[in-house]
Amino acid sequence: MPELPEVETTLRGIEPFILNKKISSVVIRQSSLRWTVPTKLIQKKLLGRTFSNITRRGKYLLLESCNEHLIIHLGMSGSLRIAKKEDLKKHDHIDVCFVDGTILRYCDPRRFGCFLWTKDVETHFLLKDLGPEPLGNYFSGDYLFHNSRKRKVPIKNFIMNSKVVVGVGNIYATEALFAAAIRPSSKAGKVPRKKYDLLAKEIVTILRRSIKDGGTTLRDFVSGNNTPGYFKQSLKVYGREGKECYECQTIIKGQRIGQRASAYCPLCQSSF
Ligand SMILES: [Zn+2]
Repeated sequence: MPELPEVETTLRGIEPFILNKKISSVVIRQSSLRWTVPTKLIQKKLLGRTFSNITRRGKYLLLESCNEHLIIHLGMSGSLRIAKKEDLKKHDHIDVCFVDGTILRYCDPRRFGCFLWTKDVETHFLLKDLGPEPLGNYFSGDYLFHNSRKRKVPIKNFIMNSKVVVGVGNIYATEALFAAAIRPSSKAGKVPRKKYDLLAKEIVTILRRSIKDGGTTLRDFVSGNNTPGYFKQSLKVYGREGKECYECQTIIKGQRIGQRASAYCPLCQSSF
């Protein structure tokens, strides 16, 4: 699944090819995504216009045009790439074509993504309740600590809740909790301040490292037959149930928390 680092890398990958270029057409072959694509509206809004700015909010890409925004989410399996007309593949649902021949192509095999339009990103139903960016100034151990008091949910659910902080997916949550030596099932409200400081730091470190690693795959966003791949992770606990912990050789345990697969080392993550 594309996570925050993939979305950030997508942004950096496509931006130089499409920014401030005039749009000649928008081809929508499949409008049945997570939410129905407003085909006519998007075509009307984008024809002859340009994208003046591209930003990311959580895992949403926001492409600004005349103070309004195209909202793109990659869903479970989506990707964006700069493509050639003839490179059309199955699941390539949408093309944004520019007058210079550049095509921004949206592919989404499982169709859980979205391609929507909004006049106001602040009040849009998908964006209005989002918590702070983990790589922004507002996110800290202090922030997590104060927002977690009296909360009985497992800390893993707490940090994966996009109202608390955006973009911390299952893999990153699992790995950050290992790095901070916190058991994923610990009640969020019981975890002490010092642990939250460490956890916030580890979340930032892991996300930054992934974005940095993703930078090396930037060329995959351009044409060819490749769709941009998701990052290979060097994982310490996620997906390693039944194997030995790299740190202490204890067997990694698996556990389902909030219907999501999770893993932890019973020894390294024994204090909280
Ligand atoms: Zn261990």
